[in-house]
Amino acid sequence: MFLRRLIFGLFLTTLSYSANAQKAYINPGVDTTDVRIKEVIQFYQSYLGDFKGKKLPDFNKYWSVEDCKNFKIPDPSVYGIGGDYPTVSMATVKTIFYVKPLSDSLYILKTTGGWIDSLKTYNLLYNSNHYIKKTKSKRLEFITPYQYSIDQWESKKVRNVTFFYPKKIKFNSTRADELINQIKKLEKDWNSPPIEIKYFYTLTYDEIQFIRGFDFTLGLGNADKPTGISNQTDNIVYCAGSGENYFHEVVHIYLNPMHKNSPLNEGLAVFYGGSMGHPLKWHIKRLQDYLINHNAIDLGKLDNFYFMDNYTNPNSTILGMFCQLAYDRDKINGLKRMMTYTSIKEILDKEFNIRPENQNEALRKLIYNYKTID
Ligand SMILES: [Zn+2]
Repeated sequence: MFLRRLIFGLFLTTLSYSANAQKAYINPGVDTTDVRIKEVIQFYQSYLGDFKGKKLPDFNKYWSVEDCKNFKIPDPSVYGIGGDYPTVSMATVKTIFYVKPLSDSLYILKTTGGWIDSLKTYNLLYNSNHYIKKTKSKRLEFITPYQYSIDQWESKKVRNVTFFYPKKIKFNSTRADELINQIKKLEKDWNSPPIEIKYFYTLTYDEIQFIRGFDFTLGLGNADKPTGISNQTDNIVYCAGSGENYFHEVVHIYLNPMHKNSPLNEGLAVFYGGSMGHPLKWHIKRLQDYLINHNAIDLGKLDNFYFMDNYTNPNSTILGMFCQLAYDRDKINGLKRMMTYTSIKEILDKEFNIRPENQNEALRKLIYNYKTID
C-alpha cells in the first residue's frame, strides 16, 4: 500500500533521532500537579523511553504477567501502521495531551505523534490511547483497548480461529465456515499444521485501529474499503469490511514465516485472498486499463510504481499475477517454486524470460496479455 512507501521515508528520517531516548512533551492543560497523574505520566514516559528505534521495551516491566504470557508483544499499537518499525519510533515529535483518571485505579492517556517537515509544518502520524491501571499491589500496568472495552465484544471459536467482534455484529457462520474451508485447503497444499489464530473483525477500519490503541493513524479518513493487517508474531488478524472471511491476512500468518526471503509474500496473499475486497483478476483488469492510459510509467522501475488509486495497489497486483501465472502453469508446485526466489529480477529472468534491458515492454506485454475473463 502507498503508506508503506511513506513509512519507509519516515523510517529513514527517524533513524537519526532514534539514538535519543524518546520522550513526549506534555501539553498545557494536563494537570501535572495531581500526583496520580504525574505518576502515570512517568510510567508512560519510561515505557516510551524503552523504545529505541527498532528495539522494543521489556514488556514484563509494563504489562501484566498474563498479557506477557499470552503475547510476545502485548501492546497492539506497537506496529500500528504496518511494517516492522514501531510507530512511536516513526514519530519524531510526541505530545501527551490528555490524562484522565477514570477512578483511582484506571487512567486513559492520549498521545499525539508526528513529524515536522522541511517547511516546519507539523504532520500528524497518530493519536494513541493507552489504558493504565493500578493493581492491588499499587503497581501500574497497561491494559489493552480490548480489555478496556471488553463488555462491547463477543467471541466465538471455530476450529483454530477465535473470532472477536463487536456485539452489534451478528456472527455469520457461513462465512466463518468458508474461511475454515480455505484454511484446510491451504494447510494441505503447504503441509502446515493448524495455527491458532485470534481474528478481530469490525465494520470499519477506524474500529480496528481503536482496538489497537488509536483514535487516528495516517491514512484513516479515506473512503471505506475492506482493510486488514496481520501480526505474525502472535498470530493475530485485524480486519474490517469482509466479516468472518478475510482470507488474505490468514494466508500471511500461514505462509510468510515459510518464505522469509521471498519478495512475493504479498503477491501470494493477493493470489489466494484478493486485496481490498476484490479478487486478483479484478485488480489486473484495472491495472491493464490504467497502464494503457499511462504510457509514461516505466515498469523497468517496478518499485517506483506503488500507487494508482485508493482501490488497487499496482505493485501487489503484479506480484499476485506472477503467482497466478506460476499456478496456471504448474499448480501448487509452480507456486512453491516461485517462493524459492529471492528477488524480482530472478523471478522475471527464470520464470518469464524477461531481462532488465527490456523489462518495461516485456512486463507490459505480460500484463496486457493476461486474460481477466475466463
Ligand atoms: Zn497483505
